[in-house]
Amino acid sequence: MAFRYPQAGSPRLVSALSRHLGVPRDTIVAGNGSDELIDLLIRIKARPGRDHVLAFRPCFSIYEVQSRLCGVEMRRIALEQDFSLPLAAIMDHVDESTAIVFVTSPDNPSGAAATADEIACLAGVLPRGTLLVVDEAYVDFARPMERYSILPRLAQHDNVAVLRTFSKAYGLAGLRLGYGVMPAWLADLVQRVKLPFSVNLLAEEAGIAALEDEVFYRATVDTTLAGRSFLAAELARLGCRVLPSQANFLMFEPPASGPAAQAVFERLLRRGIIIRPLKSYGLPGFLRVSVGNMEENRVFALALEEILAHG
Ligand code: PMP
Repeated sequence: MAFRYPQAGSPRLVSALSRHLGVPRDTIVAGNGSDELIDLLIRIKARPGRDHVLAFRPCFSIYEVQSRLCGVEMRRIALEQDFSLPLAAIMDHVDESTAIVFVTSPDNPSGAAATADEIACLAGVLPRGTLLVVDEAYVDFARPMERYSILPRLAQHDNVAVLRTFSKAYGLAGLRLGYGVMPAWLADLVQRVKLPFSVNLLAEEAGIAALEDEVFYRATVDTTLAGRSFLAAELARLGCRVLPSQANFLMFEPPASGPAAQAVFERLLRRGIIIRPLKSYGLPGFLRVSVGNMEENRVFALALEEILAHG
């Protein structure tokens, strides 16, 4: 039995999360952002030089960076043409050396999401030794959330870990706070390799307060959902190809008749509006805009309209 510091593992936050989510305490691990948990799961599950990790292309960069730092090969499955998640194709790429399959749902950068049914189906057919990590960083913005989140059904799966974060819907990115819900055997392993105080006291207190602040949470999610619909309609009106999104951002392709995506990004930047070019995701023709409040959304839409009209 490993030695444990009494306050290690953020016990008060874990209790609050356990009440909030309705899952047992010993299935929850808090992390210094969900990034920390991604790194730890790779270290625990994947043997360098022997195992590999599977994810979609494009996907959130940390899966690949941390795998490579751990000496673990990363294999990729291309997203469908319409950027939906090809869950069925995963089984064609899985073998006994697949340590982890990462599924981001809703996905970054497209906003596409797999349903909880689809994810449960995948979990049921994976080989015994393969862990399915479902990264639900953006699930608070998926509607209806129960259709998309596998978290309420985790007790039925001994090979699934769900990652969540306080960085998005709770607005606490700078405090670095995330958590994972996973089978107790795996949570125990994560606690053993995790530095005991990787989550600091301020982040823990902020997390507990955030869970209690239902009003802030609702307002953030409602504002984002209204803004997402508004921006999707505006982008379509301006001739952009907009991907359907269950997240707090929209991925879009500016019309071929106007300036290229990188030029659109730079011209917005000159006006003080920062969006995300997706070249680093291998999508140089696309941009990703985060939904803001209504004023910010309007300012962005107006600036984009002028840039597309005048080049
Ligand atoms: N997963 C995904 C899909 C993300 O996009 C992000 C943040 N960009 C994270 C995890 C990391 O979140 P955190 O701030 O909790 O480390």
